[in-house]
Amino acid sequence: MSEHETTHFIAEIVENDLASGKHAEIVTRFPPEPNGYLHIGHAKSICLNFGLAGKYKGRCHLRFDDTNPSKEDVEYTESIQRDVRWLGFDWGAHLYFASDYYDRLYDFAVALIRKGKAYVCDLSADDMRRYRGTLSEPGQPSPNRDRGIDENLALFERMKAGEFPEGSRTLRAKIDMASGNINMRDPVIYRIMNAVHHRTGDRWRIYPMYDFTHCLSDSLEGITHSICTLEFEDHRPLYDWVLDELATPCHPRQIEFARLNLNYTVMSKRKLLELVTTKLVGGWDDPRMPTISGMRRRGYPPESIRAFCDKIGVAKANSTVEISYLEACVRETLNQGAPRAMAILDPLKVVVENWPEGKIELLDAPNNPEDPAAGTRPLPFSRELWIERDDFREVPPPKYFRLSPGSEVRLLHAYYLKCEKVVKDGAGKVVELRCTIDPATKGGWAHDGRKVKGTLHWLAADHCARAEVRLYDHLFTVADPGAEEKKGRDYRSLLNPDSLKVLPDCLVELGLASAKPGDRFQFQRQGYFCADPDGTPGKPVFNRIVGLKDAWAKIEKKA
Ligand code: ATP
Ligand code: MG
Repeated sequence: MSEHETTHFIAEIVENDLASGKHAEIVTRFPPEPNGYLHIGHAKSICLNFGLAGKYKGRCHLRFDDTNPSKEDVEYTESIQRDVRWLGFDWGAHLYFASDYYDRLYDFAVALIRKGKAYVCDLSADDMRRYRGTLSEPGQPSPNRDRGIDENLALFERMKAGEFPEGSRTLRAKIDMASGNINMRDPVIYRIMNAVHHRTGDRWRIYPMYDFTHCLSDSLEGITHSICTLEFEDHRPLYDWVLDELATPCHPRQIEFARLNLNYTVMSKRKLLELVTTKLVGGWDDPRMPTISGMRRRGYPPESIRAFCDKIGVAKANSTVEISYLEACVRETLNQGAPRAMAILDPLKVVVENWPEGKIELLDAPNNPEDPAAGTRPLPFSRELWIERDDFREVPPPKYFRLSPGSEVRLLHAYYLKCEKVVKDGAGKVVELRCTIDPATKGGWAHDGRKVKGTLHWLAADHCARAEVRLYDHLFTVADPGAEEKKGRDYRSLLNPDSLKVLPDCLVELGLASAKPGDRFQFQRQGYFCADPDGTPGKPVFNRIVGLKDAWAKIEKKA
């Protein structure tokens, strides 16, 4: 259980409740609204809720909070289940929908009316806002606040029967129009909506509000700890009020924690949806998106996301985590497990003049130097090779240890290579290097004590496959798009135009031509890459997951 060893204030509450015998078993839940795909912020909540249930041998429910039919869809309920499973969690038989409770919620509302604790209000949305007051001024009672119980019961039934137009009436809890907490100023608990629900169809003309639905769903499911983000702190009195008034046998404890924010991206579902629908990204699973499906496609291993969520901890104060920290977690997981491979992103031809034409030698290359059990693979070496164009400079700058005229480097797992001559085209562009190898350095090691400082990756020219490589950078050019938006800039104008770079003519080892979507590799000296579903057997496509090092940290240090 090393992944969940970090302790935090919520774990302490749970431990105390188990120790005191308040609960014999804990029950948590992850309650997404199916109105979009899950993002890394949700992953934090998933890891927390399922993590606690796992650690303390309780259970965690997956419950769809589907109370707003106009924005919800089965596409989302399906993607959410796929993403939670992919993250490594299992709700067993405990899959629930708030919409399954609609009948019982209706009965609860009727019970409140009978107690004189709820009334049908005829104010329009605008008037209701005016009556509500402000933080410094108390609200005004609705003209309908003192309607009789029988009249309320009859009107609520007629609302249910679809007799009134959308927006014309609401059911409100009768609490306190002078409360310092605006959530307690007679909040709406039911509204009329002429919408088709993705599960209940057109059976209902009225829909319960989130605050009413959530606490009762928790209670009906026997949840012990209802963990949510800080913005619900002000809703907790309402959560408790509803359950107290209805005297439900189960009254879960609501506990709030700080939401996860990451820099250089946005986490609002509305904005993510807009990026998708206006095609500013390729879809919910665009590898640049902070969504779970985007990260999966990019190649982030699920265990690295779990490790990240564990390491950032659970706090009571909102803060922003560096996206480079998430990338570091990804890098750490991949370094242990990803097989190594050679790939040339920008090829430059090398002809080894002292290597016979047609001779192929199979060299031994370890699949993962971190893991001897991963074995080796044969790597063909031939007279014509490809190296990375960037690994050659005709006029080398100081301390340049890679290839230049007359210099010697190591070809990884192969031989020492010396550049004898540079061949250019009519425009002066370097098109080929004429080189020699030292046959006494097989495997890439000299036995006469001669040292070289540069090691290059390479491919044999007729023994490699073409591939498309996609390089990614931050989705936004600024660390905090939300803050810029508050200054009046449209967040869309802050999208990074260089967040995707497509390199259509790369070369990879032949074995990688048949990589399956999701297969991950370390392209030596380049970073970690993942085969994309867009690839075809003849032309694989690879996404760069992360570079080998944090390129941004280096830039920031230099600056
Ligand atoms: P909205 O309610 O605006 O649609 P949401 O991000 O709150 O958006 P939900 O589907 O309600 O989406 O979220 C499901 C659960 O995930 C909630 O318990 C919520 O508190 C939690 N959650 C959402 N965003 C974050 C985040 N950035 N960090 C941690 N938890 C989050
Ligand atoms: Mg929410």
